[in-house]
Amino acid sequence: TMKLQREIFYHQFGNQPRAPKPFHRRKTYLCYQLKPHEGPIKPPVCLQNKKKRHAEIRFIDNIRALLRLDRSQRFEITCYLTWSPCPTCAAELAVFVQDHPHIRLRLFASRLYFHWRWKHQEGLKLLHKSGIPVAVMRLREFEDCWSNFVDSQGEPFQPWNKLAQYSESITRRKLRKQSLLGHVDGTVSKASNS
Ligand SMILES: [Zn+2]
Repeated sequence: TMKLQREIFYHQFGNQPRAPKPFHRRKTYLCYQLKPHEGPIKPPVCLQNKKKRHAEIRFIDNIRALLRLDRSQRFEITCYLTWSPCPTCAAELAVFVQDHPHIRLRLFASRLYFHWRWKHQEGLKLLHKSGIPVAVMRLREFEDCWSNFVDSQGEPFQPWNKLAQYSESITRRKLRKQSLLGHVDGTVSKASNS
């Protein structure tokens, strides 16, 4: 099975500024599911970086292989990521959606990767310009991710302490500082209100 163990999900997708004990490094996980416009939803897939290939690149390879078999289908793909994509992967994703206009891709990230670095900010802006919305995961997305990608053994998702507060601070405070408002989904309306 491709599903995540519960502890792995809580640790890797947690949006706390510091990983809770034990302090294992939090890695990249990319979980996605294809929804064809016709026919049943494809099985959920979770990817990690492998042999220096980032999860996003492995994702692109998977979808390209799949689409070689069926180019007529229209797909919606939602990706849940533990970290927002690095600049190289952002550029690859932009090319990928350009090549495949019949795909609608959107990304949700639990945490922003090196968000204070200019290059990484440019990567996020490029995704936005390429029509790939990137949003910070909130309770709703954590719950959705849990129900689709975690081997939950029937257990409901248990939000950790301050989950909503951390989502909010990742979305607003950090992005406002880097003038990324308007480039990351969910921040546009707030920007125009203030
Ligand atoms: Zn990358």
